[in-house]
Amino acid sequence: MTRFEFLRPDLAALQAYAPQPGGHATAAIDRLDANENPYDLPAELKEKLAWHYQQVVAANRYPDGSHAPLRAAIARYVSATGLEPAIAPEQISVGNGSDELIRSLLLATCLNGRGAILVAAPTFSMYAILARTLGIPVRTVGRVEADWQIDLAAASQAIARSEPPVRAVFVVHPNSPTANALNAAEVDWLRSLPAEVLVVIDEAYYEFSGATLVGELAQRPNWLVTRTFSKAFRLAAHRVGYAIGDPDLIATLEKLRLPYNLPAMSQAAALLALEQRESLLAVVPELLAERDRLATALQDLPGLRLWPSQSNFLYARLPGAEAATYQQAMSDLKAQGTLIRATGGGLRISVGTPAENQRTVARLTAWLAARG
Ligand SMILES: *Cc1c(COP(=O)(O)O)cnc(C)c1O
Repeated sequence: MTRFEFLRPDLAALQAYAPQPGGHATAAIDRLDANENPYDLPAELKEKLAWHYQQVVAANRYPDGSHAPLRAAIARYVSATGLEPAIAPEQISVGNGSDELIRSLLLATCLNGRGAILVAAPTFSMYAILARTLGIPVRTVGRVEADWQIDLAAASQAIARSEPPVRAVFVVHPNSPTANALNAAEVDWLRSLPAEVLVVIDEAYYEFSGATLVGELAQRPNWLVTRTFSKAFRLAAHRVGYAIGDPDLIATLEKLRLPYNLPAMSQAAALLALEQRESLLAVVPELLAERDRLATALQDLPGLRLWPSQSNFLYARLPGAEAATYQQAMSDLKAQGTLIRATGGGLRISVGTPAENQRTVARLTAWLAARG
């Protein structure tokens, strides 16, 4: 119920997204709940950005609303793996985080009762959250617990039956929170979807997984890939995401976004990150080695089931546990100084620095032992 007659009644049932339960954590806590890169931007790069702010940015002027230099730099980066044909700047749209792009895609496909979206749970919660704020129905299918493959038969059936029709399917490659990349059967299923269905492939963790479907975009105009600077590139504070797709689809996203959606310093930070990407991404192999060490240490803990990860986070379940137990684990670990995420019926643990990971192992081991 709401006091205000002018508000849509369906919004009263929704809750505001609370990324950090209990508010912003103190400095002393290990923040392993949001899959960010644990390493801040190096001091020299922060100094370069500070110099840019002082010498180049006119604070009284609107930022570049075309994002032209950034779109060109992203197109070069995406094509740098030797893509043929190369991705053009007209195939890139830049958003205030991938979240903005997800919302634009929902506006473009499903508004006014025109369509529903399909997701396979557990997955990134933002698709369903944003859809609900727009009154868009969400069809949810499951996954097979053994390897988290999407229940493809259920997904096909949901598409066949949905009214309004499913206009967009959202998949993450590799998925969050379960950390598995799309397998051959899943990719084949995506290929089998009709051209009237938009396929959104969220590659937020591309720099960690090395897995991408960008090479297929040329043959599949109904596919669109999103990526972000919030994870491997260490720029979560700046909110920069981008979409890669057919020029006509991208032109539609450009119509829907707010005119000055990306602050000048965020554009500058993303450009600098691409220019310095070799040094910035040099920590990726180290983080993957840390992930493997963390997985080895957690693997045999009694009462914990861990799945293989193709990204910078691990997903675990406590066999037989209920949702409240995961919340309890999260708050007990937080009280000891390690913030992880209870989500999707399990625990998602980001890979941190070696010291953070050692504390994660010690605290989780003690927690499981106390649980008995
Ligand atoms: C972290 C994450 C993103 C990044 O979102 P931004 O809005 O760009 O910060 C996108 N998709 C998934 C699946 C993620 O986990």
